Amino acid sequence: MNERARPETVGTTLEKSAFFMPFSMNRHFKKAPRLVSRAEGLYYYAPDGRKLIDGTSGLWCVNAGHCRKKIVEAVQKQVAALDFAPPFQLGHPLAFEFADKLASIAPEGLSKVFFTNSGSESVETALKLALAYHRVRGEGHRTRLIGRERGYHGVNFGGTAVGGIAANRKIFGALVAGVDHLRHTHDLARNAFARGQPKHGVEFAEDLERLCALHDPSTIAAVIVEPVACSGGVLVPPVGYLERLREICTKHGILLIFDEVITAWGRLGKPFATHHFNVVPDLITTAKGITNATVPMGAVFMKEELYQAFMQGPEKAIEMPHGYTYSAHPLACAAGLATMQVYEEEGLLTRVADLWPYWEEQAHALKGLPNVIDIRNIGLIAAIELSPREGAVGARGLDAHLKAFERGAYIRVAADTIALAPPLIIERAQIDELFATVREVLKTLA
Ligand code: PLP
Repeated sequence: MNERARPETVGTTLEKSAFFMPFSMNRHFKKAPRLVSRAEGLYYYAPDGRKLIDGTSGLWCVNAGHCRKKIVEAVQKQVAALDFAPPFQLGHPLAFEFADKLASIAPEGLSKVFFTNSGSESVETALKLALAYHRVRGEGHRTRLIGRERGYHGVNFGGTAVGGIAANRKIFGALVAGVDHLRHTHDLARNAFARGQPKHGVEFAEDLERLCALHDPSTIAAVIVEPVACSGGVLVPPVGYLERLREICTKHGILLIFDEVITAWGRLGKPFATHHFNVVPDLITTAKGITNATVPMGAVFMKEELYQAFMQGPEKAIEMPHGYTYSAHPLACAAGLATMQVYEEEGLLTRVADLWPYWEEQAHALKGLPNVIDIRNIGLIAAIELSPREGAVGARGLDAHLKAFERGAYIRVAADTIALAPPLIIERAQIDELFATVREVLKTLA
């Protein structure tokens, strides 16, 4: 059963390895590596064969579970037939087929698709589309971009600039000019242990009016927010908040971008969070679950009128001077089409609606355990916020991550907040298994 694991890597020192690991504590990790060498369904397997439940769908991306046969086979077949085709001034049929398939699932009106290779690239693309859209319509004065504190929009320049996690920004200097941030919506004093959307905080959306008054709305091109801010600690939008953001953007002619890199593809019990909240942005960024993370890919969805604004002028002119060598890569399109088939056959884009109440109960059953100061949940996402150790923010969270790995669960943490978001194929017994491990970890944390 563990034939593909490689026991010979166990105990090998990685301290001199050339690999500069991303978003990792390189020295700490290389001294005591945590490796996985195989995955199937809901589980990772360490090289020694030890089984780990995947509590965060990899990086919130393996929505259908690992190594799904249909997706693996589609990629294998595609790589043998057409390994690559330039996406500029040339096409391959799967790119068009996949875009049409995606548009048929996307919220109504978001009918055109621009392919990228990651969430970060989707964010850069959406920001550039927003700026260019205003420019081609004669509103080139709209150059400001508004993000939100504690937001995460990937790691490229635009995404880092509109992002609002201080630790991710501080060593990179001034980043992009003309960016400002809404305040975040976390309000522990009023909303601790809320189930689903917190009751208090619609007024946080008025912060956009403050920025409009400060900069003048005619200078603002777009506002970008995650409908649920996941990487920044799972901040669920207060009731009415997204609706109000939408109203203010519409009133001032500002484009609203929902960064759905995590929340799309069934995480909240509907294909997109946009469907769940019933608030429609002008652009949506996605990635991750679009191919079940089998092959890197991202996509930006835009309203028809945005696309049409570019389709002016001479036909023999390139309408959007933007794109990536690997946009609509044949392997990614093949993986994506197979992924959508798996999602449809297994009802995964809506399955969470059934799991949600049970998931919520199990998450909130952790209330009262040592150091737990908040539990938040929405869809198949839960966050357990721990009080930080004095003078050592994040240390308790890191311990939770390490102890969970020892006890057979892979979980993510954002500072002292544990974030859980398993693959959408999870069954109740496995939800129990995951929370039982987290419970044991919490009991032993100093
Ligand atoms: N946007 C959001 C909301 C994300 O959660 C992420 C990654 O977690 C990104 C963008 C960046 O995606 P990637 O790591 O694929 O570049």
